[in-house]
Amino acid sequence: MTSPSDQIRAGIRDVPDFPKPGIVFKDIAPILSDPELLKKSINLLTATAGDVNIDKVVGIDARGFIFAAPVALALNAGFVPIRKQGKLPWQTHSMAYSLEYGENVVEIHKDAILPGENVLLVDDLLATGGTAAAAIKLIDQLEANLIAASFLIELNFLNGRDLLGDTRVEAVVDF
Ligand code: AMP
Repeated sequence: MTSPSDQIRAGIRDVPDFPKPGIVFKDIAPILSDPELLKKSINLLTATAGDVNIDKVVGIDARGFIFAAPVALALNAGFVPIRKQGKLPWQTHSMAYSLEYGENVVEIHKDAILPGENVLLVDDLLATGGTAAAAIKLIDQLEANLIAASFLIELNFLNGRDLLGDTRVEAVVDF
């Protein structure tokens, strides 16, 4: 009997040279389209919160949203999007960063999280850690209490967690 995380690992499809030569893209579409694998993914990400009462689950644009919103529901928490530049309509904090392929700016609404609220950060994949590091800086600017940064997939060989300081980092599967 294979474990839920091994079943999720088996559902991840490697797509070589996407979106650029040399990148092996971890395609989660086969997991999302399978109701059992989707449920197990949400359950395992939800469990990374442990016993802590989470006020807000923060998801990162765009694949992070897919996981963060159901995790928020499971934890009785609110959902907060971190979005790419120019998408959020209200007052924002912004943070620039470089990622495995290209450059980006992410933003959060200034009133999305109250000071001292317990936050779980959720994204689909930790690669170089640039995206998550920028998201953590935005969460810090709002003076929130970041409990953990949780990913469905971690690419160990890129050492992304080294960029995340003393944040607790959790991954459902790693490569
Ligand atoms: P990074 O900032 O390098 O940690 O990149 C993380 C973000 O880029 C994640 O939100 C992923 O959606 C995406 N990403 C980076 N590398 C890959 C990859 N090899 N396969 C799939 N998604 C990736």
